[in-house]
Amino acid sequence: AMLEIRNVQKTFRTDAKPGLHAGIFHRPGARKAAQELQVLRGVDLTVEKGDVVAILGPSGSGKTTLLRCLNFLETADAGQLILDGESFDLAHANRADIARLRKKTAFVFQNYNLFRNKTALQNVTEGLIVARRMPREQADAVGMKMLAKVGLADRADSYPRQLSGGQQQRVAIARALASDPEIIYFDEPTSALDPELTGEVLSVMRQLAEEGMTMLVVTHEMGFARNVSSKTVFMENGVVVEQAPSRQFFADPKEERTREFLRKIA
Ligand code: ADP
Repeated sequence: AMLEIRNVQKTFRTDAKPGLHAGIFHRPGARKAAQELQVLRGVDLTVEKGDVVAILGPSGSGKTTLLRCLNFLETADAGQLILDGESFDLAHANRADIARLRKKTAFVFQNYNLFRNKTALQNVTEGLIVARRMPREQADAVGMKMLAKVGLADRADSYPRQLSGGQQQRVAIARALASDPEIIYFDEPTSALDPELTGEVLSVMRQLAEEGMTMLVVTHEMGFARNVSSKTVFMENGVVVEQAPSRQFFADPKEERTREFLRKIA
């Protein structure tokens, strides 16, 4: 397998506000009851090269948190990731590990995360120039090629505010592609978009899928899961309930919870 994910666990802890009498009754541990929310309860996944994996599940089931843990945007409490034979401890990463992993991965956010004060081209080339120390002319050439790939060569000099949401997300995808990643993580890439703009983003993603790009996609787009992804994963309450080749997943789900979910969204 190209990517193996083992036993990812994550609990969010929020300290409750100390009560009115906190200073008076000094019982350490008693007055500062921490709220704990176990969001990931041991997630395992295997991704082959060229797989497009759609991750489905009800809101709050831990999908986004899983994706963020996989790229060290959150620190997991436990978990191991093996990418191309290189192993990473998701609970104990140092700067070098994070840099080493992110050299091979890219992340596309729900809200694009573009620099407002940079043009489309500058957004795409920034990482190449700053993090990878690529000469500007070379970075510009890569950037233009990637903007062309997402159908935005003619908008290279536009600023994000001059672009539609769908165009901004396509710039974000061009930026992800520019770093030549082994795998791209997409976190609900179309859920901030008006319905008429989701199509252009999904069609770029479909094109990448056809070209063999490995992708892990948290999504609510059933059409994408059913028709584009090679594998579908259903998560609920921090665990993977069912995973199967997408055709099989939709035609013949094995778990009752999966069937119920599919009935509800159908
Ligand atoms: P999904 O993507 O499946 O909707 P999330 O991973 O976004 O689920 O969230 C899972 C749960 O974790 C939710 O209950 C959410 O409120 C909670 N959560 C997410 N991020 C944080 C955080 N930074 N601090 C505390 N709770 C969080």
